[in-house]
Amino acid sequence: MPLPGVRRHSNKAEIANSPDLCAAGKTGAALTVDAARLRAMAAVQPMRQSEPLPLEAALGRVLSESPTAKSNLPPFDNSAMDGYAIRRSDLSGPGPFQLRVTDRIAAGDRRLICLYPCTAAQIFTGGPLPEGADAVIMQERVRRSKNIITFDELPHAGQNIRRSGEDRRRGDPTLQHGLLLTPTRLALLAGTGVEEVVVCRKLMVGLFSTGNELCELGTELEPGQIYNSNRVMLRAMLAEPWVHVTDYGILPDHPGRIRSTIRQAATQNDVVVSSGGVSAGEEDHILDALSRENAALEVLKVAIRPGKPLTIGRVGNALFFGLPGNPYAAAITFSQIARPALRKAAGITESSDFWIPAVSGFEYIRSSGRREFVPVTWDSRDVLGRPVLQSLGKGASASLGPIAIAHGIAVIEPDVTHIVPGMPIAVEPLI
Ligand code: AMP
Ligand code: MG
Repeated sequence: MPLPGVRRHSNKAEIANSPDLCAAGKTGAALTVDAARLRAMAAVQPMRQSEPLPLEAALGRVLSESPTAKSNLPPFDNSAMDGYAIRRSDLSGPGPFQLRVTDRIAAGDRRLICLYPCTAAQIFTGGPLPEGADAVIMQERVRRSKNIITFDELPHAGQNIRRSGEDRRRGDPTLQHGLLLTPTRLALLAGTGVEEVVVCRKLMVGLFSTGNELCELGTELEPGQIYNSNRVMLRAMLAEPWVHVTDYGILPDHPGRIRSTIRQAATQNDVVVSSGGVSAGEEDHILDALSRENAALEVLKVAIRPGKPLTIGRVGNALFFGLPGNPYAAAITFSQIARPALRKAAGITESSDFWIPAVSGFEYIRSSGRREFVPVTWDSRDVLGRPVLQSLGKGASASLGPIAIAHGIAVIEPDVTHIVPGMPIAVEPLI
């Protein structure tokens, strides 16, 4: 049963096909966050261009083809324990059992070894299983005197044996295309003898900030100026092995400059991300520049807090994300709406839906209508192990202090107006 405070994911087809929602982004009413995300994702095609890379250069890249295992993993039957390899058919009756130890097999032993009837071979983890053996008894279960071992339990067939190819078989696809290459995935590929992978080429992302008031770091602030926080934040959020960022710096609130940079960035990149200048004010020039560049606008209004307004469109072949200027709003709209679309555009097929169930440790009364992202922290858990969240402030805040020290972002659904302690609530961990 869905819990009152917890995010309920709507059916994708339902969101994308709803005529009300499709019209909503352009005409007045706001799109839900899920609908805006789906529309952004629908506006991109997954990356088709690829390049070969050696494994050691492929961390964090996206598989464009499924690599084929070149050898079985493990390559041969071997022992999972330090112990003794035996033949079960040598053992009958209730036990205890006794066998003579006739061999010693360490990892890396290259001999072709046969286990003769009524004998045991001492074997170490990773050692090749001798021909004829069908179980390994761990050394802790065995009493040894000279070369005689005694043990009480009859092992089951295959006990403590790792069979050749049980992880992956030679010729099998090892990993699906579209997966990010994590350290353990690289290890799986190495284990199956794959030296080189074919990965999606990096997603080219152009970035710029707009605002006459913005001052670059390293320069003294003049009256009316603020430092450009979004540039370093968005660059950090884009610092993925599958992204290549081109930074076009700060643009003044000048229609011509903004328009020419949008045009240039859209021809040089797959995606363009900007911050600021997307509201309806006289000094907000992004929308006007986009329409003069014949952009197809996909999303204009989203029921999100913080974050409204947000502009998503297509300029030529590039996807354009016009994020709001307020840094917290830029962070939330980027992570909630832009990042999933960027992941799809880069060829990634795995979802990044990492919220976890939590409970509120605070009271909050608010008006309905928007999904709100509240910076939270926690230092305790309830009896079910769920984090008990403490609020660091409202989601509407433009300030960076709360989100900078937050452990996560609580997700408050549009229809929830009164949060009380103990209420179930979803949280997206940040650290
Ligand atoms: P805008 O979205 O351009 O209307 O800007 C909204 C607010 O965010 C204004 O107070 C801006 O000064 C501020 N802002 C815009 N861009 C940035 C930026 N790159 N870094 C920090 N604050 C910004
Ligand atoms: Mg501005």
